[in-house]
Amino acid sequence: MTTKPMLFKRLSEYFQQLESTSLRLKITEILAEMFKDAEKEEIGKLCYLLQGRVTPLYDSTEFGVADKMMIRAVAQGLDIETDQVLKEFKKMGDLGSATEKLKIKTPDAGPDLKDPQGLTLNDLKLIDVYEILYQVATSSGEGSQEVKVNLLSNLIKQIDPLSARYIVRLTLDKLRLGFSDMTVLDSLSWMIKGSKELRPEIERAYNLRPDLGYISQRIKDKGIKGIKHVQPVIGTPILMAKADRLKNSKEILEKIGRCAVEFKYDGLRLQVHYKKSNNFVKLFSRNLEDLTPCFPDISESVKKSVAADEAIFEGEIVAYNPQTGVNVAFQQTMQRRRKYDIEKKAAEIPVKLYVFELLYQSGKNLIGLPYRKRKGLLKKMIKEDAVLKYANETIVEKEEEIEQLFDDSVVEGYEGIIAKRLDGVYQAGMRGFSWIKFKRAMSKKLMDTFDVLVMGYTFGEGKRTIFGVGEFLTGVYDESQDKFVSITKIGTGLTDEQFREFKKRIAKLEIKEKPQRYLVDKLLEADVWLRPALVVEISADELTRSQVHTAGRILGLSKSGKAEKVTAPGYSLRFPRLERFRDDKKPEGVTTVLEIMSMFKSQGERE
Ligand code: ATP
Repeated sequence: MTTKPMLFKRLSEYFQQLESTSLRLKITEILAEMFKDAEKEEIGKLCYLLQGRVTPLYDSTEFGVADKMMIRAVAQGLDIETDQVLKEFKKMGDLGSATEKLKIKTPDAGPDLKDPQGLTLNDLKLIDVYEILYQVATSSGEGSQEVKVNLLSNLIKQIDPLSARYIVRLTLDKLRLGFSDMTVLDSLSWMIKGSKELRPEIERAYNLRPDLGYISQRIKDKGIKGIKHVQPVIGTPILMAKADRLKNSKEILEKIGRCAVEFKYDGLRLQVHYKKSNNFVKLFSRNLEDLTPCFPDISESVKKSVAADEAIFEGEIVAYNPQTGVNVAFQQTMQRRRKYDIEKKAAEIPVKLYVFELLYQSGKNLIGLPYRKRKGLLKKMIKEDAVLKYANETIVEKEEEIEQLFDDSVVEGYEGIIAKRLDGVYQAGMRGFSWIKFKRAMSKKLMDTFDVLVMGYTFGEGKRTIFGVGEFLTGVYDESQDKFVSITKIGTGLTDEQFREFKKRIAKLEIKEKPQRYLVDKLLEADVWLRPALVVEISADELTRSQVHTAGRILGLSKSGKAEKVTAPGYSLRFPRLERFRDDKKPEGVTTVLEIMSMFKSQGERE
């Protein structure tokens, strides 16, 4: 059976439909329709393009194209002056729409644009455009700028105006469709089942292999059977397990009984992939960023001190002072997450990796084994050296034992402890009670800090006008809607230094309009919106209910059925304080509404 290839133009029409709605169900349906439309050779590539990429998220390939370069490409492609492009760009505020408009105004370029299959000049296939974009992303080194400009200008010259809009946005990392991978997983279920019913099964496979290209292709090819036996592979990160929280040692023992307690090291989570035969080491952060170039010292140590042909294991990177040997603060460790001066920084800020998990070893997927077995294998596999340290565990069954270990951890300068269920499996990508964190109390009522997304800011008054920022509006993640909802504003408690740091970090995040994924009450509208990128950790005195914040808020219709009214108030934080910037987290990794609700409940029990 010969099938009709999907045209890029068709994809652009889907993009346009997706842009016109913020309703999750509608988005799911549009995506499912598009997936049905695609062939098995196309769907994987399509999924990468949806993410604004040509490779999976964990691959470090980026387009490396900035506005200036794109303006040149557009001008060259349309055979007009760069000034003209710049003028339109300034007018419209978006280079994609500007290109589309200019393209409509510009007479079609030449007759040499028929492809060998006789398709007209606008009929570029999705696969062909993908290939060109792949070349743009992977050309590097001397002369690569010219190569990129030429590839893009030719593409812009050939393609229809709407597609030009999206190609420009996609390459500039400004596609900004209003959904995350989770909605894509829903849509894959929708494609084969007409409902979200298969999402849990698809998500399990995705947690082991977070590559939408691979997952979608398997499903398209073999249906749900295609992902039943997905296994981890060296080089593809496994989504990391997360810890839940409980109030005290009594609750911990009630929940998981006799258990193992480890220190909660305060650093940067790392997943190591190692293959001895080709000396392969890859290091991933918790948001799947490839950190291999940043930590040559860890890679060297892994090659020397890991006794296995292949392994995937995890630990926490903690920097220490080379003079005193004492572990240093999280911010210092984060300084090693850099692209330049790596050797110099490695000498200035040496690190240790406290290894605490083994997920895969020499062809065997271990995540379904009980903790005790995994830890036993890990202990045998790691030969400790200056960098690699085995995270010791103590088996406990009494409250006093947990409390003693907790006190020890504080004395040693750690964050607290993590209690681990002895028969617990590794819950990839999930927050569960196999691991329970118990941290130094941040306030009398709250047992943990909050990771929040910085959504926008209001202009300052008085002293703060020098910063141009009054307060930052922050939010948490509502998984059920795949949206960000507001929870608090921070501003008053910030020091001048913190304001300056904020200003620096938001410089490139400002956008013209509120993203579709932000649900914010009219009363809290920001003066300037920021695209979802910056995550900060804040502490607070307590969680309160709020009429205006949208975290957990439920709206219903008033009696007359005309106006919307609050049927259940949302949640907010009292006296929020900035603890630190969390560059190791991505927006969807912030605290969720469900976690807020559970913390609110346990706060009530503390009172
Ligand atoms: P927090 O902000 O409290 O670190 P989090 O949301 O960043 O929490 P959680 O998943 O809730 O992360 O807590 C587990 C984190 O604690 C892990 O991601 C890891 O980075 C860190 N950690 C430190 N020591 C250990 C340990 N012994 N075992 C597991 N995780 C540990």
